[in-house]
Amino acid sequence: MRVVRFYAPRDVRVEDAPEPAAGPGELVIRVRNCSLCGTDAKIWGSGHPDLRPPRVLGHEVAGEVVEVGAGAAGWSVGDRVQVIAAIPDGTCHECRQGWQSVCPNQERIGYHHDGGFAELMRVPAKVLAVDGVNRVPEGLSLAEASVAEPLSCVINGQERAGVGEGQTVVVVGAGPIGCLHVRLARARGAARVLLIELSRRRLELAAGLVAPDEAIGAEGADTVAAVRELTGGRGADVIIVAAGSGRAQEDALAMAARRGMVSFFGGLPKDRPTIACDANIVHYREVGIAGANGSSPAHNRQALELIASGAVPVADLITHRLPLEQAVEGIHTVTRGEAIKVTIEG
Ligand SMILES: [Zn+2]
Repeated sequence: MRVVRFYAPRDVRVEDAPEPAAGPGELVIRVRNCSLCGTDAKIWGSGHPDLRPPRVLGHEVAGEVVEVGAGAAGWSVGDRVQVIAAIPDGTCHECRQGWQSVCPNQERIGYHHDGGFAELMRVPAKVLAVDGVNRVPEGLSLAEASVAEPLSCVINGQERAGVGEGQTVVVVGAGPIGCLHVRLARARGAARVLLIELSRRRLELAAGLVAPDEAIGAEGADTVAAVRELTGGRGADVIIVAAGSGRAQEDALAMAARRGMVSFFGGLPKDRPTIACDANIVHYREVGIAGANGSSPAHNRQALELIASGAVPVADLITHRLPLEQAVEGIHTVTRGEAIKVTIEG
Protein backbone atom coordinates (compact mmCIF):
# COMPACT_ATOMS: atom_id res chain seq x y z
CA MET A 1 0.00 0.00 0.00
CA ARG A 2 1.01 3.64 -0.38
CA VAL A 3 1.90 5.75 2.67
CA VAL A 4 3.25 9.23 3.42
CA ARG A 5 6.24 8.79 5.70
CA PHE A 6 8.26 11.31 7.64
CA TYR A 7 12.01 10.59 7.77
CA ALA A 8 13.46 13.95 8.79
CA PRO A 9 12.56 17.64 8.50
CA ARG A 10 11.90 18.40 4.82
CA ASP A 11 12.17 14.69 4.00
CA VAL A 12 8.63 13.31 3.73
CA ARG A 13 8.22 10.52 1.18
CA VAL A 14 5.23 8.94 -0.54
CA GLU A 15 6.25 5.30 -0.79
CA ASP A 16 5.20 1.64 -0.54
CA ALA A 17 4.77 -0.12 2.78
CA PRO A 18 3.49 -3.54 3.86
CA GLU A 19 -0.22 -3.69 4.65
CA PRO A 20 -0.98 -3.75 8.38
CA ALA A 21 -2.85 -6.60 10.07
CA ALA A 22 -5.23 -6.35 13.03
CA GLY A 23 -3.77 -7.84 16.21
CA PRO A 24 -5.88 -8.67 19.29
CA GLY A 25 -8.22 -5.80 20.19
CA GLU A 26 -7.26 -3.86 17.06
CA LEU A 27 -8.92 -2.74 13.84
CA VAL A 28 -7.57 -2.03 10.39
CA ILE A 29 -9.39 0.69 8.51
CA ARG A 30 -9.31 1.80 4.91
CA VAL A 31 -8.63 5.52 5.26
CA ARG A 32 -11.06 7.55 3.16
CA ASN A 33 -10.17 10.96 4.55
CA CYS A 34 -7.23 12.17 6.59
CA SER A 35 -7.25 15.94 6.86
CA LEU A 36 -4.19 18.13 7.21
CA CYS A 37 -3.45 20.10 10.34
CA GLY A 38 -1.13 23.08 10.86
CA THR A 39 0.94 20.70 12.98
CA ASP A 40 1.61 18.48 9.94
CA ALA A 41 3.14 21.53 8.23
CA LYS A 42 5.26 22.25 11.33
CA ILE A 43 6.40 18.60 11.42
CA TRP A 44 7.36 18.77 7.75
CA GLY A 45 9.57 21.78 8.49
CA SER A 46 11.14 20.90 11.82
CA GLY A 47 9.93 17.50 13.06
CA HIS A 48 8.50 17.01 16.53
CA PRO A 49 10.12 15.71 19.75
CA ASP A 50 7.36 13.09 20.21
CA LEU A 51 7.68 11.77 16.66
CA ARG A 52 10.10 8.91 16.11
CA PRO A 53 10.93 8.52 12.41
CA PRO A 54 10.27 6.88 10.11
CA ARG A 55 6.59 7.50 10.81
CA VAL A 56 3.42 7.63 8.71
CA LEU A 57 1.89 11.07 9.35
CA GLY A 58 -1.75 12.11 9.66
CA HIS A 59 -4.06 12.24 12.66
CA GLU A 60 -7.47 13.56 11.47
CA VAL A 61 -8.71 10.19 10.37
CA ALA A 62 -11.98 8.73 9.07
CA GLY A 63 -12.49 5.53 7.12
CA GLU A 64 -14.09 2.10 6.88
CA VAL A 65 -13.26 -0.97 8.93
CA VAL A 66 -11.68 -3.69 6.75
CA GLU A 67 -10.39 -6.07 9.46
CA VAL A 68 -11.51 -6.72 13.03
CA GLY A 69 -8.93 -8.18 15.43
CA ALA A 70 -9.79 -10.88 17.96
CA GLY A 71 -11.74 -9.43 20.86
CA ALA A 72 -12.50 -6.05 19.21
CA ALA A 73 -16.14 -6.50 20.14
CA GLY A 74 -18.89 -4.46 18.51
CA TRP A 75 -17.11 -3.72 15.25
CA SER A 76 -17.77 -5.17 11.81
CA VAL A 77 -16.16 -4.94 8.40
CA GLY A 78 -17.73 -1.99 6.56
CA ASP A 79 -18.40 0.16 9.64
CA ARG A 80 -17.72 3.85 8.96
CA VAL A 81 -15.56 5.28 11.73
CA GLN A 82 -13.69 8.35 12.99
CA VAL A 83 -10.60 7.81 15.14
CA ILE A 84 -9.21 9.95 17.98
CA ALA A 85 -5.70 11.39 17.64
CA ALA A 86 -4.63 11.84 21.28
CA ILE A 87 -4.71 8.54 23.18
CA PRO A 88 -4.92 8.89 26.97
CA ASP A 89 -3.93 5.89 29.11
CA GLY A 90 -7.30 6.06 30.88
CA THR A 91 -5.86 4.99 34.22
CA CYS A 92 -3.67 7.79 35.65
CA HIS A 93 -4.67 10.49 38.17
CA GLU A 94 -5.58 13.00 35.43
CA CYS A 95 -7.65 10.48 33.45
CA ARG A 96 -9.54 9.44 36.59
CA GLN A 97 -10.43 13.13 37.11
CA GLY A 98 -11.81 13.23 33.54
CA TRP A 99 -8.87 15.35 32.31
CA GLN A 100 -7.81 13.04 29.47
CA SER A 101 -6.45 15.95 27.39
CA VAL A 102 -3.62 16.39 29.90
CA CYS A 103 -2.89 12.69 30.49
CA PRO A 104 0.90 12.62 31.11
CA ASN A 105 1.11 9.26 29.34
CA GLN A 106 -0.73 10.46 26.23
CA GLU A 107 0.37 8.93 22.93
CA ARG A 108 -0.72 10.19 19.53
CA ILE A 109 -1.67 8.80 16.15
CA GLY A 110 0.83 10.04 13.57
CA TYR A 111 3.51 10.55 16.26
CA HIS A 112 3.86 7.40 18.37
CA HIS A 113 1.71 5.25 16.04
CA ASP A 114 1.54 5.24 12.24
CA GLY A 115 -1.12 7.67 11.07
CA GLY A 116 -3.75 8.15 8.42
CA PHE A 117 -1.83 9.34 5.36
CA ALA A 118 -1.96 5.77 4.11
CA GLU A 119 -4.37 3.50 2.26
CA LEU A 120 -4.79 1.38 5.40
CA MET A 121 -4.26 2.24 9.06
CA ARG A 122 -4.01 -0.06 12.06
CA VAL A 123 -6.03 1.25 15.02
CA PRO A 124 -4.07 0.27 18.16
CA ALA A 125 -5.85 -1.64 20.95
CA LYS A 126 -5.22 1.25 23.36
CA VAL A 127 -7.43 3.46 21.14
CA LEU A 128 -10.32 1.00 21.39
CA ALA A 129 -9.68 0.60 25.14
CA VAL A 130 -10.49 4.29 25.73
CA ASP A 131 -13.52 4.35 23.39
CA GLY A 132 -11.52 6.21 20.76
CA VAL A 133 -13.32 4.85 17.68
CA ASN A 134 -16.60 6.55 16.82
CA ARG A 135 -19.31 5.39 14.47
CA VAL A 136 -19.97 8.02 11.78
CA PRO A 137 -23.69 8.82 11.61
CA GLU A 138 -25.62 7.99 8.44
CA GLY A 139 -25.60 10.87 6.00
CA LEU A 140 -22.37 12.40 7.26
CA SER A 141 -19.47 12.20 4.79
CA LEU A 142 -16.12 10.82 5.95
CA ALA A 143 -14.49 14.10 4.86
CA GLU A 144 -16.71 15.95 7.37
CA ALA A 145 -16.13 13.24 9.97
CA SER A 146 -12.35 13.74 9.70
CA VAL A 147 -12.83 17.32 10.95
CA ALA A 148 -14.25 15.98 14.24
CA GLU A 149 -10.70 15.67 15.62
CA PRO A 150 -9.73 19.36 15.27
CA LEU A 151 -13.25 20.36 16.39
CA SER A 152 -12.82 18.21 19.51
CA CYS A 153 -9.76 20.28 20.44
CA VAL A 154 -11.78 23.46 19.86
CA ILE A 155 -14.53 22.12 22.16
CA ASN A 156 -11.95 21.44 24.88
CA GLY A 157 -10.59 24.99 24.52
CA GLN A 158 -14.04 26.62 24.70
CA GLU A 159 -15.09 24.48 27.67
CA ARG A 160 -11.96 25.55 29.53
CA ALA A 161 -12.54 29.22 28.62
CA GLY A 162 -16.26 29.01 29.49
CA VAL A 163 -17.66 30.26 26.18
CA GLY A 164 -21.43 30.65 26.56
CA GLU A 165 -24.70 32.55 26.11
CA GLY A 166 -24.68 36.24 25.29
CA GLN A 167 -20.93 36.68 25.31
CA THR A 168 -18.70 38.72 23.06
CA VAL A 169 -15.97 36.36 21.86
CA VAL A 170 -12.80 37.33 20.02
CA VAL A 171 -11.01 34.70 17.93
CA VAL A 172 -7.43 35.52 16.93
CA GLY A 173 -6.27 33.52 13.91
CA ALA A 174 -8.43 32.71 10.89
CA GLY A 175 -7.04 29.31 9.94
CA PRO A 176 -9.18 26.18 10.10
CA ILE A 177 -9.03 26.17 13.91
CA GLY A 178 -10.08 29.84 14.09
CA CYS A 179 -13.00 29.13 11.74
CA LEU A 180 -14.13 26.22 13.92
CA HIS A 181 -13.86 28.46 16.99
CA VAL A 182 -16.15 31.06 15.37
CA ARG A 183 -18.74 28.42 14.50
CA LEU A 184 -18.59 26.67 17.87
CA ALA A 185 -18.85 29.97 19.78
CA ARG A 186 -22.08 30.69 17.89
CA ALA A 187 -23.37 27.19 18.59
CA ARG A 188 -22.67 27.78 22.29
CA GLY A 189 -24.78 30.96 22.21
CA ALA A 190 -22.20 33.75 21.90
CA ALA A 191 -23.94 37.01 20.97
CA ARG A 192 -21.05 38.49 18.98
CA VAL A 193 -17.96 36.91 17.49
CA LEU A 194 -15.05 39.03 16.27
CA LEU A 195 -12.31 37.52 14.09
CA ILE A 196 -8.77 38.93 13.99
CA GLU A 197 -6.11 37.82 11.49
CA LEU A 198 -2.77 39.14 10.27
CA SER A 199 -3.09 38.00 6.64
CA ARG A 200 -5.64 40.05 4.74
CA ARG A 201 -6.15 37.28 2.18
CA ARG A 202 -6.75 34.62 4.82
CA LEU A 203 -9.11 36.92 6.74
CA GLU A 204 -11.20 37.48 3.62
CA LEU A 205 -11.32 33.77 2.83
CA ALA A 206 -12.33 32.84 6.39
CA ALA A 207 -14.77 35.71 6.90
CA GLY A 208 -16.49 34.79 3.63
CA LEU A 209 -17.17 31.35 5.06
CA VAL A 210 -17.88 31.83 8.78
CA ALA A 211 -19.24 35.42 8.69
CA PRO A 212 -17.98 36.88 11.97
CA ASP A 213 -19.77 40.01 13.22
CA GLU A 214 -16.52 41.89 12.63
CA ALA A 215 -13.43 40.87 10.67
CA ILE A 216 -10.41 42.81 11.88
CA GLY A 217 -7.15 42.89 9.91
CA ALA A 218 -4.25 42.93 12.37
CA GLU A 219 -1.62 44.16 9.91
CA GLY A 220 -0.50 47.59 11.15
CA ALA A 221 -3.65 47.93 13.26
CA ASP A 222 -4.21 48.47 16.98
CA THR A 223 -6.41 45.44 17.56
CA VAL A 224 -6.72 46.09 21.30
CA ALA A 225 -8.17 49.54 20.61
CA ALA A 226 -10.44 48.07 17.93
CA VAL A 227 -11.89 45.47 20.33
CA ARG A 228 -12.32 48.08 23.08
CA GLU A 229 -14.15 50.37 20.66
CA LEU A 230 -16.40 47.58 19.37
CA THR A 231 -17.35 46.63 22.93
CA GLY A 232 -18.11 50.12 24.22
CA GLY A 233 -14.86 50.12 26.20
CA ARG A 234 -15.80 46.99 28.18
CA GLY A 235 -13.57 44.48 26.40
CA ALA A 236 -14.43 40.95 25.29
CA ASP A 237 -15.74 38.18 27.55
CA VAL A 238 -13.51 35.53 25.98
CA ILE A 239 -10.48 35.94 23.73
CA ILE A 240 -9.22 32.78 22.03
CA VAL A 241 -5.70 33.00 20.64
CA ALA A 242 -5.58 30.37 17.89
CA ALA A 243 -2.22 31.57 16.60
CA GLY A 244 1.30 30.78 17.76
CA SER A 245 2.08 34.38 18.67
CA GLY A 246 3.24 35.68 22.04
CA ARG A 247 2.35 39.21 20.99
CA ALA A 248 -1.23 38.07 20.26
CA GLN A 249 -1.41 36.47 23.73
CA GLU A 250 -0.24 39.72 25.36
CA ASP A 251 -2.78 41.71 23.34
CA ALA A 252 -5.52 39.24 24.28
CA LEU A 253 -5.03 40.01 27.97
CA ALA A 254 -5.42 43.72 27.19
CA MET A 255 -8.67 43.00 25.27
CA ALA A 256 -10.33 41.15 28.14
CA ALA A 257 -13.37 42.49 29.95
CA ARG A 258 -13.54 42.35 33.72
CA ARG A 259 -13.93 38.68 34.70
CA GLY A 260 -12.99 37.80 31.11
CA MET A 261 -11.14 34.67 30.04
CA VAL A 262 -8.22 34.31 27.67
CA SER A 263 -7.54 30.98 25.98
CA PHE A 264 -3.94 30.27 24.99
CA PHE A 265 -5.18 27.79 22.40
CA GLY A 266 -2.09 27.83 20.19
CA GLY A 267 1.35 26.91 21.52
CA LEU A 268 4.38 29.19 21.13
CA PRO A 269 7.68 28.26 19.46
CA LYS A 270 9.68 26.00 21.81
CA ASP A 271 12.66 28.38 21.83
CA ARG A 272 10.53 31.45 22.70
CA PRO A 273 7.77 30.31 25.06
CA THR A 274 7.64 33.36 27.38
CA ILE A 275 5.48 36.48 27.12
CA ALA A 276 5.22 39.76 29.02
CA CYS A 277 2.03 39.29 31.03
CA ASP A 278 0.54 42.38 32.68
CA ALA A 279 -0.22 40.66 35.99
CA ASN A 280 -2.27 43.61 37.19
CA ILE A 281 -4.80 43.00 34.42
CA VAL A 282 -5.21 39.46 35.74
CA HIS A 283 -5.30 40.69 39.36
CA TYR A 284 -7.52 43.78 39.32
CA ARG A 285 -9.83 42.78 36.48
CA GLU A 286 -10.07 39.15 37.63
CA VAL A 287 -9.11 37.89 34.19
CA GLY A 288 -8.47 34.18 33.80
CA ILE A 289 -6.08 32.37 31.50
CA ALA A 290 -6.96 28.88 30.25
CA GLY A 291 -4.71 26.43 28.45
CA ALA A 292 -5.84 23.92 25.84
CA ASN A 293 -4.00 20.73 24.89
CA GLY A 294 -5.80 18.50 22.45
CA SER A 295 -8.98 16.72 23.48
CA SER A 296 -10.50 13.64 25.08
CA PRO A 297 -12.33 10.73 23.42
CA ALA A 298 -15.60 12.25 24.76
CA HIS A 299 -14.82 15.54 22.99
CA ASN A 300 -14.43 13.60 19.73
CA ARG A 301 -17.88 12.03 20.14
CA GLN A 302 -19.37 15.43 20.94
CA ALA A 303 -17.66 16.96 17.88
CA LEU A 304 -19.08 14.30 15.59
CA GLU A 305 -22.57 14.94 16.99
CA LEU A 306 -22.25 18.72 16.52
CA ILE A 307 -21.17 18.23 12.89
CA ALA A 308 -23.87 15.64 12.17
CA SER A 309 -26.65 17.74 13.71
CA GLY A 310 -25.65 20.81 11.68
CA ALA A 311 -24.84 22.83 14.83
CA VAL A 312 -21.26 23.21 13.58
CA PRO A 313 -21.18 22.79 9.79
CA VAL A 314 -17.76 21.92 8.35
CA ALA A 315 -18.37 20.82 4.73
CA ASP A 316 -17.76 24.32 3.36
CA LEU A 317 -14.51 24.67 5.34
CA ILE A 318 -12.97 21.84 3.30
CA THR A 319 -11.51 23.94 0.49
CA HIS A 320 -9.03 21.42 -0.94
CA ARG A 321 -9.29 17.67 -1.65
CA LEU A 322 -6.11 15.90 -2.77
CA PRO A 323 -5.09 12.29 -3.42
CA LEU A 324 -2.47 10.63 -1.18
CA GLU A 325 0.22 11.05 -3.84
CA GLN A 326 -0.12 14.84 -3.46
CA ALA A 327 0.04 14.95 0.35
CA VAL A 328 3.31 16.88 0.39
CA GLU A 329 1.80 19.48 -1.95
CA GLY A 330 -1.11 19.61 0.49
CA ILE A 331 1.31 20.40 3.32
CA HIS A 332 2.74 23.28 1.28
CA THR A 333 -0.79 24.55 0.59
CA VAL A 334 -1.36 24.66 4.36
CA THR A 335 1.98 26.44 4.94
CA ARG A 336 1.15 29.10 2.33
CA GLY A 337 -2.16 29.83 4.07
CA GLU A 338 -4.09 29.36 0.82
CA ALA A 339 -6.57 26.85 2.20
CA ILE A 340 -8.92 26.57 5.10
CA LYS A 341 -9.09 22.78 5.39
CA VAL A 342 -7.15 20.40 3.16
CA THR A 343 -8.20 16.76 3.18
CA ILE A 344 -6.31 13.84 1.71
CA GLU A 345 -8.87 11.58 0.08
CA GLY A 346 -8.61 7.96 -0.95
ZN1 LIG B 1 -3.93 9.25 31.82
